Amino acid sequence: MLFDLQFLEDEIIDQYLYDENPRPWIIGFSGGKDSTMLLQLVWNALKKVPAEIRTREVYIICNDTMVENPHIVDFINRTLVNITKAAAEQSMPFIVRQTTPRLEETFWVNLIGRGYPAPNNSFRWCTERLKINPTTQFIKSKIDEKGEVIILLGTRSAESANRAKSIKKHAVRGQRLRKHLLPSAYVYAPIKDIETMEVWQYLQQVPPPWGGTNKELVTLYKNANSGDCPLVIDESTPSCGNSRFGCWVCTVVKRDKSMEGLIMNGEEWMYPLLDLRDELVEGRNIRENREIFRRHRRFKLAKSEEDKEDDSWGAYTPEYRAKILRMVLEAQKEIQEMQGENMQLITHQELIAIQVIWYRDGILKYKVADIYNSIFNAHIDMSKHEEKFRQEEELLREVFTDEDEFEFIQKSLNVLKTKTLMVKKRGLSSDIENLVEEQLNKKK
Ligand code: SF4
Repeated sequence: MLFDLQFLEDEIIDQYLYDENPRPWIIGFSGGKDSTMLLQLVWNALKKVPAEIRTREVYIICNDTMVENPHIVDFINRTLVNITKAAAEQSMPFIVRQTTPRLEETFWVNLIGRGYPAPNNSFRWCTERLKINPTTQFIKSKIDEKGEVIILLGTRSAESANRAKSIKKHAVRGQRLRKHLLPSAYVYAPIKDIETMEVWQYLQQVPPPWGGTNKELVTLYKNANSGDCPLVIDESTPSCGNSRFGCWVCTVVKRDKSMEGLIMNGEEWMYPLLDLRDELVEGRNIRENREIFRRHRRFKLAKSEEDKEDDSWGAYTPEYRAKILRMVLEAQKEIQEMQGENMQLITHQELIAIQVIWYRDGILKYKVADIYNSIFNAHIDMSKHEEKFRQEEELLREVFTDEDEFEFIQKSLNVLKTKTLMVKKRGLSSDIENLVEEQLNKKK
């Protein structure tokens, strides 16, 4: 081994036993090479600690953006099952938790439901919603429960010049942790000075303590021909799309080399996904696919050459949203025929949320259930969700007989509901003030 394995394990043990009031550890696990090495190291180190003092809880969190490559999802899910089973059998203090975006923050609910244009460098709305928020929520819930937490990350600086300096620093207990952006959270990066070649060497020589070998992981990297996507805990992470563990829908990167690599190596059933991603890249820059005004003034001005849009380009039109939904469902049907029913690109809950948003946005020409039924030859019925909104509207009409007043109250409620769905209150009072001003101007 090129690095001192014993030294690293001793350091982890020392840090684990250090606190008087043990703060829980949270390991960010993506299933990629770095976080796999980190988890193996921690596991093997803690195995050497007597069971009666191995009491500090260690959470393993794995975030599923719900638009992960289905091939990778399958691999990670199998790994998580093995980890859970082996942790119980070996009485290790590991607890596996999977996080996902809130329903109102998923990729499809925003893109097909609200009509957000596919993300790019100027308008990258996805990372916060799909990756940062779900893990932050989990970390915050643990801080509320335990007061403080320590987050273990598999990040590496890859600069060997740093190594000597930081090994010295690492030897000192109190200096291994750095402050995280979240109050009461600290970051510990045990493998930050390990080089890429050493990671591969370790993974090939040391089998995972949860059973099996790392062969499948190595093959995945070889076939996907790309890098890693670490746990994303803040917006400083560069585009996480160009990696083996990025979202398959990612339009922030020019080409999805990872998916192309997998297809080249025999995963041909992924072609419909690649076609759909290409449509997302091209479709966002076609004028006819976009409404004229920006929805809730949320879209930023285009800053770079890659953006052909100007300030008047708004959300996707109802036609284009319906077209994308159709394409997603057709792709789902196609891959299910080849790979089985568990290949799901969009969930039933997301379909309901999209229908609710369409109804609220006044999109009556297209129905999610009709599109779904026509593709799957099924009979799903979403009318009860629409019915709820229809009743609400009728009630408002009974109370506010004046058409202007009715419109004002309905707009105010929509602003409020949207903010609640987005879990953001920022801008709420100014949005309401604008509506009141508009209403007063009408009355003049
Ligand atoms: S991988 Fe791409 S789509 Fe997914 S969160 Fe990162 S930038 Fe957004």
